[in-house]
Amino acid sequence: MHGLMQDWPLTVDKILDHAKRWHGSREVVTRSVEGPIVRTTWGEIHTRAKRLSNALLGLGIQPGDRVATLAWNSGRHIEVWYAIMGIGAVCHTLNPRLFADQLCYIINHAADRIIITDETFLPVLMERRHEMPTVEHFIVLTDPDRVAKCGMEGALSSETLIESHSPDCTWGGFDEQTACGLCYTSGTTGHPKGVLYSHRSNFLHTLVTLQSDYMGLSVRDTVLAVVPMFHANAWGLAFTGAAVGTKMVMPGAKMDGASIHELLETEQVTFSAAVPTVWQMLLAHLRATNGQLTSLKRVVIGGSAVPEAIIRAFHDDYGVEVVHAWGMTETSPLGTMSTPTPEIAALSFDEQIAYKLKQGRPPVGSDIRLVDDAGNVLPHDGKVFGRLQIRGGYIVREYYKGDGGEILDADGYFDTGDVATIDPTGYMQITDRAKDVIKSGGEWISSIEIENIAAGHPKALIAAVIGVAHPKWDERPLLLVRLKDGETATAEEFLGFLDGKIAKWWMPDAVMFVDEIPLGATGKIDKKLIRQQMADYRLPTS
Ligand code: AMP
Repeated sequence: MHGLMQDWPLTVDKILDHAKRWHGSREVVTRSVEGPIVRTTWGEIHTRAKRLSNALLGLGIQPGDRVATLAWNSGRHIEVWYAIMGIGAVCHTLNPRLFADQLCYIINHAADRIIITDETFLPVLMERRHEMPTVEHFIVLTDPDRVAKCGMEGALSSETLIESHSPDCTWGGFDEQTACGLCYTSGTTGHPKGVLYSHRSNFLHTLVTLQSDYMGLSVRDTVLAVVPMFHANAWGLAFTGAAVGTKMVMPGAKMDGASIHELLETEQVTFSAAVPTVWQMLLAHLRATNGQLTSLKRVVIGGSAVPEAIIRAFHDDYGVEVVHAWGMTETSPLGTMSTPTPEIAALSFDEQIAYKLKQGRPPVGSDIRLVDDAGNVLPHDGKVFGRLQIRGGYIVREYYKGDGGEILDADGYFDTGDVATIDPTGYMQITDRAKDVIKSGGEWISSIEIENIAAGHPKALIAAVIGVAHPKWDERPLLLVRLKDGETATAEEFLGFLDGKIAKWWMPDAVMFVDEIPLGATGKIDKKLIRQQMADYRLPTS
């Protein structure tokens, strides 16, 4: 027997409809690519998005067609998302930090028909235009005068399109399983693979992440969305912000410490989310300028493991709560968050740190487990390392065009490629990417744990640990450290700092001071590149 409730397909256009109707005057503030701060509202975003939908229909876009964006976080980018999704087309977010070859591969794989871009990215698009045969139009997110001067033949101005089309456009009315967004994984092994979100999966993810133990946004929040819309859906903020009608602040192209601090203060931001490197830049800026944070209450940090030094600096020096999150493009992206249970909240801050460093527990709507290489389910004892698996209504079932083949196991779980522990209180901790874990004498060493402790050394700016071949132990850890500007240090200082904080046999066999630790397209340490750079390196112990 079916229930007798209304059929109300969960399509994301309803989220922006809601924002317009109930939070229409709430502001969306952008540091524009052109420079000035631009203010709009959820109501205006809705109207302009509808006009843009009509423009896309006029350019021949049909349901299911892929329309790509290559853009910073801005009010305009939000308009574009809803304009594309509302008419049943697929919004394909391109990551501008990818190499041009990878961008071309992705654009061709997705067969994008239109690319909507910020001016910033015109040089690469102009240079590679002939390698994108499926792309019929380029729309530049600026006014016609600037487009006329941009040098790209045939480029259209988003402002002209918006002004010349009516806001009367019907959104939705299709199945909630309709494809809605497309985002490619960073592709650290092989070609990037496409994750094709549905309206339903994005809607569910929005509701799930809004729980107070997860993103927990409120209409009383002002949200600075630093995490890019081209990286795993900006962790859902363009949906959750609209869903609860928060004031949104979009940083545009500038994510350095000074620019972020300025927005945090002038817009009185209460909540923000970004990868650790962004916060490291902000904290360095605050220290150098004796800056204060007068409104910020909570930051969600994920994408890579949060070093203890960041959690402590936010708490001790600025009274800001850090919530650690884990997720991936394939999980929409929120997988787990490390908000305290009542038992953990009752502990002292120092005792809570151990849990804050973990990636936390899953919300209702998905589930995680650990398995060994043979697929046997492992216990939640906080000690055993296992492969982390996840399943749920907003978790990938299959990559776009079937790339990578069958990706779920017999129980319907997706293997994340991460290695983790889960403790008896249910807190999951990522110990490594499966390919980065250091296998020493048949046991596993967590590169992440060592590098996070090392990064807490007062002289360290950033640290990375890789496994290096060893004749006796298979692999042993090598610690690479980039020191803060002007600092000098010895290997012994760092080994002494690690002593007592990690098991003796985890102690790196060598410490190397480097000028740069390479970061990949999503701001994470690029271990693949480090391993390539260190291919000829031999440990002194080998
Ligand atoms: P992406 O799809 O680019 O967001 O990358 C997802 C991967 O980033 C995950 O599979 C993890 O390896 C890593 N990751 C994300 N969040 C965290 C975190 N909080 N701690 C450690 N690794 C993380």
